[in-house]
Amino acid sequence: MSSPYHAGPISEALWQRALSRIPGGVNSPVRAFRGVGGEPFFVNKAKGCTITDVDGREYIDFVGTWGPAILGHAPQVVIEAVTETAKHGTSFGIPNPLEVEMAETICRLVPSVQKVRMTNSGTEAVMSAIRLARGFTGRDRIVKFEGCYHGHVDSLLVKAGSGALTLGQPDSAGIPASLAALTTTVPFNDLEALKAVFRDQGPEIACVILEPVPANAGLYLPEPGYLNAIRQLCTEHGSLLVFDEVMTGFRLAPGGAQEIFGITPDLTTMGKVIGGGLPVGAFGGRADIMDHLAPLGPVYQAGTLSGNPLALAAGLAQLKEMERINGWAHLEFLGAQMEESMRALIKGKPLTFQRIGSMFCLYFTEGPVRNLADAKQSDTAAFARYFHAALENGIYFAPSQYEAGFLSTAHSPEVLERVAKALPRLLQII
Ligand SMILES: *Cc1c(COP(=O)(O)O)cnc(C)c1O
Repeated sequence: MSSPYHAGPISEALWQRALSRIPGGVNSPVRAFRGVGGEPFFVNKAKGCTITDVDGREYIDFVGTWGPAILGHAPQVVIEAVTETAKHGTSFGIPNPLEVEMAETICRLVPSVQKVRMTNSGTEAVMSAIRLARGFTGRDRIVKFEGCYHGHVDSLLVKAGSGALTLGQPDSAGIPASLAALTTTVPFNDLEALKAVFRDQGPEIACVILEPVPANAGLYLPEPGYLNAIRQLCTEHGSLLVFDEVMTGFRLAPGGAQEIFGITPDLTTMGKVIGGGLPVGAFGGRADIMDHLAPLGPVYQAGTLSGNPLALAAGLAQLKEMERINGWAHLEFLGAQMEESMRALIKGKPLTFQRIGSMFCLYFTEGPVRNLADAKQSDTAAFARYFHAALENGIYFAPSQYEAGFLSTAHSPEVLERVAKALPRLLQII
């Protein structure tokens, strides 16, 4: 793919070195620009709503380190909390007081969570929640939705075959077919497909796991009543409902998507925002389920650095600041401003803009986009041209059509105004 944008010379040199010693040059494949062509730039500084690359170029950032940076980059409160905490040690290997404070904070903000355990990433949280659901119910099968991403957990790197009832096909090499066969995948926003799965496999289903607002295939919303119906089906069949709120948790509202849609899941997985930019995940839910975890119960789960004081200090500082400034209301205000200018711009064009709170996606298709199949209608070549034109104009969107964009409280109305002014130019080239 041709790209008008070229990384600077220092980035370019680092990239060549990275390619020879890191597979694909990256420690997470989403950073590799494979969806848009060209080469990534290297960043060593970030502040507020901007990131600065090693060649000194500054970009307005809508990636927010893929979700965690809800107060913008390097917020004073987080930097101070990490610095102060580090003076007393970086890890203790025995309970520390911040673990209690974090657990109480999560349970207060997310009422469906009565007990919670910390992990080091969202992937770990999901992996543990799935094991717990299986251990608690004594069932093996799990149900997930096409286009929902739950980290690189073996059982969940599976998408549907040709039909909703098709048994899982591994989406990644290295996943045993016998394990993938225990994952059933259905299209999102298709209640009949899920009902059919429950009719066929109800007594085998340990849990249904979903992103209540799917944001890993762009961004689309659950239709009215859909989440309630899933809740009801799970209850009727004795299957656990697991909300993966690694992305939406503490972002859409203090209590995540479950607060907005008024649903009580049995288990919730969390990450990103609660880590304040450090590696953190968590899973929690009903106490009777959580008590099946070791050392109380038979489901084993552990972590050398789980509940790490630096990570928890960062996360707690971020959450406290969000509560102090009522960041969620402010983000809705900023999101609405962005949506208004976007809607005016794309009027009459084959584009679809979707937003909830501080998360957004611009699809290069007429829409509507309500599931993965619709999202795949997007013209990804047009997206790539838009992406590169944005970079040239000092605006960094995620390098894939299938990622959500993020606003932070550090994106001022003036910055959004500046971006809105640049957009007609960026959209011209589609
Ligand atoms: C990012 C994400 C994960 C994985 O979290 P990691 O910290 O990258 O392991 C899981 N679920 C959802 C919904 C996510 O967005």
